Amino acid sequence: MKSSFSYKFLWVLATIMLVSLGINAQQKKTIYILATGGTIAGQGATEVTAGYKAGAISVNELLKAVPEIKDIAFIKAEQVANIGSQDMNDDVWLKLSKRVNELLSQSDVAGIVITHGTDTQEETAYFLNLTVKSEKPVILVGSMRPSTAISADGPRNIYNAVATAVATESIGRGVMVVMDDKILGADDLAKTNTLSVGTFQNPNYGPLGIVYNGKPIFTRQTLKRHTSNSEFDVRALDKLPRVEIILSYSNATDLFVDAAVKAHVKGIVTAGVGNGNITTALQDALAKAVKNHGIAVVRSSRIMTGPTAQWDEVADDQYGFAASWFNNPYRSRVLLMLALTKTNDYKQIQRMFSEY
Ligand code: ASP
Repeated sequence: MKSSFSYKFLWVLATIMLVSLGINAQQKKTIYILATGGTIAGQGATEVTAGYKAGAISVNELLKAVPEIKDIAFIKAEQVANIGSQDMNDDVWLKLSKRVNELLSQSDVAGIVITHGTDTQEETAYFLNLTVKSEKPVILVGSMRPSTAISADGPRNIYNAVATAVATESIGRGVMVVMDDKILGADDLAKTNTLSVGTFQNPNYGPLGIVYNGKPIFTRQTLKRHTSNSEFDVRALDKLPRVEIILSYSNATDLFVDAAVKAHVKGIVTAGVGNGNITTALQDALAKAVKNHGIAVVRSSRIMTGPTAQWDEVADDQYGFAASWFNNPYRSRVLLMLALTKTNDYKQIQRMFSEY
């Protein structure tokens, strides 16, 4: 009698466990990890020395350091590139954006985490923010310490990125970066420190939120156009218009504008002083570049915060310039490249800089 009772009890227990395992398996979402290199995949000679090579280990090696992500998602990994992000380029951007769009159009894929070097992460994040055609979460993640360092920050950042990618609250927020327990928007991303693990900030708008105990907590949402509400589409493109950035400083001359004109660039972004001001020599050369060569010019600023506003010290309409508002020179370059896939009318470009 007693033994048949315990037999039944064990049977019921086993059934409950199997059912709950099944439910758990059903609830786990599929997240793709696309790897591009960077310090997060970097390898040093020892755990303490500074010298290391970015983009040295494969995505599968990298993920071995954070087995816990398998508890929260079904993980699939692909190596898209393995470079230091100082060498990030249009070809990888196009490949990445196309792959993200392909994967997110599959109903069984819930989100994407992209491992990426921190040096140009803000540019890639913004490029994807404007070219991904999906509401599903896309999270970029990097690290400031190589995978071989003591207290490497990569594994925790990857865990938090996957945790953010699987959360329903993360849908429709545009491309994000998760690092140092912060969730940052691609709309205002800046690397602010050359070495610190807390390097990324949203200096104008503040972070989107934090990751706490493996759960995202959002505190702001972007008002800028992005992802499925973006007018840009690179899915059929295999090349992007060339846009260069030219810095202003005391005594800056027309030297680099002349070089840009000779190189047949399609657009120039200025990293001006103050509210996007530029030397008179630069201004005259840029005005000629617009008038004589049809080059699109966007004024931005080398100052980290505040807008490069229209209608202040530079008569943009008189020269055919656009002002970048809250986009720094690096995001402005990305936006101008995409704008130029559609138009080089400065009024249209100005509208885009107000909306994105
Ligand atoms: N140079 C590295 C890179 O951007 C730095 C990093 O990842 O932190 O790939």
